[in-house]
Amino acid sequence: MSRMTHARYRNETEPISAFDVDDNYDLYSEEDRREFRCIFCDSQIQFSRGKAHDDPHFKNWPLKEHGENCKVPNSIKQLEGKKNEVELQTLVSTILPRAMRPSVSISPGAKTHKDKAKRYVGKQTRKFIYDLKNVLDSKNRFAVDEEYKDLTFLTEANDEVKIEDIIMTQDKIINALDSNGGQGFICILKGTVSKVKEAKGSYIVDMTKSKNGIYGNSKGFKLYMPYDFVSKNESKMNSIKNSLIICYGIASKTDYGYQMDLYSIKNQVAVLMTFT
Ligand SMILES: [Zn+2]
Repeated sequence: MSRMTHARYRNETEPISAFDVDDNYDLYSEEDRREFRCIFCDSQIQFSRGKAHDDPHFKNWPLKEHGENCKVPNSIKQLEGKKNEVELQTLVSTILPRAMRPSVSISPGAKTHKDKAKRYVGKQTRKFIYDLKNVLDSKNRFAVDEEYKDLTFLTEANDEVKIEDIIMTQDKIINALDSNGGQGFICILKGTVSKVKEAKGSYIVDMTKSKNGIYGNSKGFKLYMPYDFVSKNESKMNSIKNSLIICYGIASKTDYGYQMDLYSIKNQVAVLMTFT
């Protein structure tokens, strides 16, 4: 049985997330709930709140299969024979935004920071980033565990991306931005937080930079938290200091340098280890 995090709803152009449906559950009539379709093959799918009402997702409509060439069932099939020590199924069933490739820009519909936060870094992201942490090998500098190296994920654009291609060092992100003309894209930064500064009410989180760049950190990179997100995050700021983290977000080149937007520490960041 395939699970999916996103669906197409009626004639809406942007896919809708299962968490969004769950948050507004009462607004969907029984008839509305017959209108969810697979974003890849357009087969009818069903919304489920999960066993304890804490795991919203989409699943096959009873007795209806995905289309013959749909990538969703194949994405689940790749787990056959894998050690299921971690929640692989929830990981590969997360449908990533189309912008997971540096060459594809983020949706033009998401203009403000609030739009971007809602669209790209909600609760679905939190689940994904925490599951992702579990496939990294703590004994090998948190590289992707051998067992899971060949895992692929689906994006809204019907692409498949390899796990190793979406977890990037700051140098790798900077190179990608330089070669695509500085167009923002979604990816996962892996790096170490050095210090947090305040600037006009916003937060600037500097990532460590070293001359030899042994960890792919020869160039300066920062996380940028706009001021209207600060109060929600203030109490969590200390949890990322001096820590190796993975952070899911929109990387871009601005007048102030290379950066990734940080709207929610809880949803976007998983701490891998903290240096004392
Ligand atoms: Zn399908």
